[in-house]
Amino acid sequence: IERTLSIIKPNAVAKNVIGQILSRFETADLRIVAARMLHMSREQASAFYAVHQGKPFFDELVEFMSSGPVLVTVLEGEDAVAKNREIMGATNPANAAPGTIRADFADSLTENAVHGSDSSETAAVEIAFFFPEGVCP
Ligand code: ATP
Ligand code: MG
Repeated sequence: IERTLSIIKPNAVAKNVIGQILSRFETADLRIVAARMLHMSREQASAFYAVHQGKPFFDELVEFMSSGPVLVTVLEGEDAVAKNREIMGATNPANAAPGTIRADFADSLTENAVHGSDSSETAAVEIAFFFPEGVCP
């Protein structure tokens, strides 16, 4: 059993599809074990995506991620990291398989609807970033 961090990004929240996205997690046997809705500041978004600092798309990414509220959840299940990335689809929605979250709800490469941790180690860091008080065991 593994945990991963998911973010429903501002474009998907604005489109009113939080429920549809959460439902896909549940259908894939991922359990929502923590949730927090917030509107990130530019500083928070920069810190969260610090690994991308210096890349050409960084400023646009930070601007977008701080443009409106997001829903941050912790998902738990067997192979949660890989399973979540599979149902999210490719980063670029143009390459996302039909039926994936990004294929259905992304608006562009930047506004691609969801974030998911890329490894178990990253997940632990990202969960602590948004839930410093900890998550129910
Ligand atoms: P995320 O980390 O959001 O789950 P990812 O792991 O699929 O997405 P990353 O390489 O970590 O992709 O990039 C983080 C985010 O930065 C992407 O989700 C996308 O919004 C944006 N991004 C990545 N590459 C580009 C690019 N070439 N041009 C514009 N935006 C990009
Ligand atoms: Mg990533």
